[in-house]
Amino acid sequence: MKLLLVLLAILFGIWLWHSGRNASNRSKHPDPKASPPGAPTKQAQEMLACKLCGLHVPQAEALIGPKGAYCCAEHQRRAEV
Ligand SMILES: [Zn+2]
Repeated sequence: MKLLLVLLAILFGIWLWHSGRNASNRSKHPDPKASPPGAPTKQAQEMLACKLCGLHVPQAEALIGPKGAYCCAEHQRRAEV
């Protein structure tokens, strides 16, 4: 029984050491595949065509209405009335 407890303590120590090492690795070396904050990503660069005039605008600047995307509020209003 004593041997089992010692074995469990060793396993627990190894587990602690592993989890502690993984956590410090993550904080010291961020994933190189992850893009740095503020960097343009493919999702941010996605273009949407205006439903009225066909002008391509970045998704972040496009106005999304129930019928589609628009380049400006004027086109959204004209297309959706
Ligand atoms: Zn438009």
